Amino acid sequence: MDYLITGGAGFIGSHLAESLLARGDSVYVLDDLSTGSIRNIEHLREQPRFHYQIDSVTNRPLMAEMVDRVDAVYHLAAAVGVKLVVEHPVRTLETNLRTTEVVLEMAGKKQKPVLIASTSEVYGKSEQLPFREDGPLAIGPSSLARWGYACSKLMDEFLCLAYWQEYRLPVVITRFFNTVGPRQTGRYGMVLPTFVRQALAHQPLTVYGDGQQQRCFAYVGDVVQGSIALMDKGEAAYGEIVNLGNDQEISIRELAERVIERTESRSEIVYVPYDEAYAPGFEDMRRRIPDLSKAKALVGYVPTVGLDEIIDRVIESFKRGQ
Ligand code: UDP
Repeated sequence: MDYLITGGAGFIGSHLAESLLARGDSVYVLDDLSTGSIRNIEHLREQPRFHYQIDSVTNRPLMAEMVDRVDAVYHLAAAVGVKLVVEHPVRTLETNLRTTEVVLEMAGKKQKPVLIASTSEVYGKSEQLPFREDGPLAIGPSSLARWGYACSKLMDEFLCLAYWQEYRLPVVITRFFNTVGPRQTGRYGMVLPTFVRQALAHQPLTVYGDGQQQRCFAYVGDVVQGSIALMDKGEAAYGEIVNLGNDQEISIRELAERVIERTESRSEIVYVPYDEAYAPGFEDMRRRIPDLSKAKALVGYVPTVGLDEIIDRVIESFKRGQ
């Protein structure tokens, strides 16, 4: 099969490209390199079934042509990373809304299946754990940029489902939870690459808030396999929203300790108030756990890589120069 991956030079997109190529598919990547990087796809450029184009998803004639060429579309292009979102709210909102509009419009014309990557951010501050796809979304006030990001992805979901309901466009929505692994950069605020970089340099690890907030970190390879399985599933997955991640929780403080231990670093932990780390009034969620039963029921999804193994792979990748 031939696939278009928007955002294919990004962290998750490049792993997806790799997996599709490995099983014999052809991959077309469209990426404007705003947060992605050519380095992420450098090792794929030699492969005859790999094609890439550095351009924006909002280039409509190009998108029309690319969608025409492929059998299905993975739409991963988006503004991601809480830091980026807080610092550049206009870019975040415009990117997330405009790209999805164009993807759906073009795919809609040709009835090509689309998988849209959404995020656990849409659950906001909900305390109904674990988060179920049909559970409540507790997004905070519009005065805080973080919630604008959540809302923009939520609008993407609504639009996607509207295309399904009104035009029967085959769509699948995945909500990714704290996905980590080699090639992820800490530049946009993600915690694991930030801690690993700090630990390897023997610099203090910056734990935001009191470090008691908890997350579940998923290996990128697991999330990618889940996404591929959902796209392959066809009919039964169309019109569905599906959580993908890992459901093993760890506090951020413990994560910092684990990284220090596994890198054998001399680093200490420093605690940075949220206001200083992000922006005044910043709101973080204390806990975030995916309910993975829907993914399991639909495609047998079970995460396979545990946290220590993930941390080691990230450390290795940093040592190799990422
Ligand atoms: N965090 C941290 N230090 C950092 C970066 C992030 O303590 O250098 C915290 C962040 O405040 C959040 C958690 O780690 O509570 C996960 O952050 P990330 O941006 O990776 O993902 P999020 O869960 O916020 O989407």
